[in-house]
Amino acid sequence: MGEGDGLRDYRGRRDFGRTGEPAGRGTSARGGEPRFVVQIHDASTLHFDFRLQVADVLRSWSVPKGPSADPGDKRLAVPTEDHPLEYEEFEGVIPAGEYGGGTVIVWDHGTYEPLSHDRRGRRVDFGESLAHGHARFRLHGAKLRGEYALTRFRGGRDGDAEEAWLLVRTATGGASRGSGTPDPRRARSARTGRTLARVAAEDGEK
Ligand code: MN
Repeated sequence: MGEGDGLRDYRGRRDFGRTGEPAGRGTSARGGEPRFVVQIHDASTLHFDFRLQVADVLRSWSVPKGPSADPGDKRLAVPTEDHPLEYEEFEGVIPAGEYGGGTVIVWDHGTYEPLSHDRRGRRVDFGESLAHGHARFRLHGAKLRGEYALTRFRGGRDGDAEEAWLLVRTATGGASRGSGTPDPRRARSARTGRTLARVAAEDGEK
């Protein structure tokens, strides 16, 4: 999942004649703050997908339990292929039998502020901090607000082990305990207010 892979992995896994997901051709970043999106994906296993815009793609992690607002929770985050920027808007049903088949809702989205610094307090390029396996950022979403960090604890430069990261709410910035993550089956889309079941019922037969 190094830099320069672009969207080749993403496109290689999908048949755009069958899935309604965006092919992401010819789009590049707009100005302004970088974007993030958290989707709930009812695939073979129900999980959250956490995506951060880095340059022209959404860097992506599958987070089985979803992000937590409680700094005491360490959430496993497994990297997946870069997604196109338009994926931020994707909500719908990926047909059964296709890659990632199942229902997707946009649980939260917004902008984020990169916060990575080196030991001398100088700001580090965000993509570079991810390459080094540790990045901090402040989310400005409809639901998620505050400072989070992604830290790689397995794989990466040191070998063949599959990469694994932790997504953690940092204790700085007035984070409070006990807010956790809502039940993904009851959670509503930040875009349309719909639940997974509602999207499955409305978009499933298209
Ligand atoms: Mn997914």
